[in-house]
Amino acid sequence: MANFECARCHRIFERKQFEDVCPACFVLEEEEFEQIKEYLTLHPGATSSDLVNQLDVSLKSIKRYLRQERLEIIGDNKGFIKCELCGAPVNSGYFCGNCYREGMVMRRREESLALRNIDKPAGKLKSSSGKGIRFGKKSDEKG
Ligand SMILES: [Zn+2]
Ligand SMILES: [Zn+2]
Repeated sequence: MANFECARCHRIFERKQFEDVCPACFVLEEEEFEQIKEYLTLHPGATSSDLVNQLDVSLKSIKRYLRQERLEIIGDNKGFIKCELCGAPVNSGYFCGNCYREGMVMRRREESLALRNIDKPAGKLKSSSGKGIRFGKKSDEKG
């Protein structure tokens, strides 16, 4: 499995599917999203800056929820998130209506790319020198 950087805490974790955050942050996001949901229910028409100020949610997280189509921008989209293909403002998700099909095909293609690890082993630890201290054969102790 390819390793993936958590979009929230930037730790590297093993990605199981297409999740953006590590399992630890996933729990946090669920809690955070519950708060957002509640807030938006109580304050219809709240803006992203309301969420940032009132709930201490980062704009980055909000963007992520928009991308995941868990949130949607109502009305005027000031280019807060854009279509990944053509750059048109979108209210949620990764692609605009025109690019959606093409975009999803592209994503699937990216996700099926074969990967290999090119990490180099960290320096040789073994010394080639035969010198140094080592245990010798014990000579007979004197009684
Ligand atoms: Zn994380
Ligand atoms: Zn587009």
